[in-house]
Amino acid sequence: MLIAGNWKMNLRYEDIINFKETLYDLNLDNRVEMAVFPQFPLLYYAKKYLLDCNIEVGAQTCSSELKGAYTGDVSVEVISDIGCKYCIVGHSERREFHNETNGFVKKASTLLLSKNIIPIICVGESKEIKIKKTTNQFIKSQIKECVPDNINSNLVIAYEPLWSIGTGIIPEYEEIFNVHNIIIKELSHIENLKVIYGGSVNMENCSKIFKLNNVHGALIGGSSLKFKDFLAIYKSAVKQII
Ligand code: PEP
Repeated sequence: MLIAGNWKMNLRYEDIINFKETLYDLNLDNRVEMAVFPQFPLLYYAKKYLLDCNIEVGAQTCSSELKGAYTGDVSVEVISDIGCKYCIVGHSERREFHNETNGFVKKASTLLLSKNIIPIICVGESKEIKIKKTTNQFIKSQIKECVPDNINSNLVIAYEPLWSIGTGIIPEYEEIFNVHNIIIKELSHIENLKVIYGGSVNMENCSKIFKLNNVHGALIGGSSLKFKDFLAIYKSAVKQII
């Protein structure tokens, strides 16, 4: 399982120190990985500072170009130099505010994989699509357009219904189960594929989500900023696999 904290444009240097302090009573279980995704300027520091905690540190996005005149963008080479295992691509906020299209996601994910970084590709339907009951087709086409061709391992898909992110509302557990099944079927050729759920995961709802046997973890926004909650969610995932 993978418990991933997307810190977005929150938290500062001192918060990473506080975060490490809250980890003192955490027994990391090697079947459940924890990863955090700080802002770019904090990445190198977080990676170094958390090195002895067995926690992965990842990037929130990357450029779809290898290098060159792309002011403000960050290359997969630098993310690789820092030692990141994961990089989120196509998060709905990046899609909305920074034009990360499916084509971008595919290109960036291809580059990431060429540097041995595992992409966490975000997919998910809008409220309108949910109302029209076309979620399944929408997810299938997102998967087709986002996942690089000819890959056979090392991929995480985060199913994040857009209407659930930051709203406190989650889908019916059965809906999560069904969409995860679709993703797993579409990508059955990928070894060690993880499909994680994201959207208003919290201490109250996480154990029911983790009980679904095709949920391989969670991508957590708001609750990952409250470190005690984040650790409680992690512990709930560990309980689930025991
Ligand atoms: C997210 O933005 O990836 C997310 C899941 O946010 P939240 O947990 O706050 O809904």
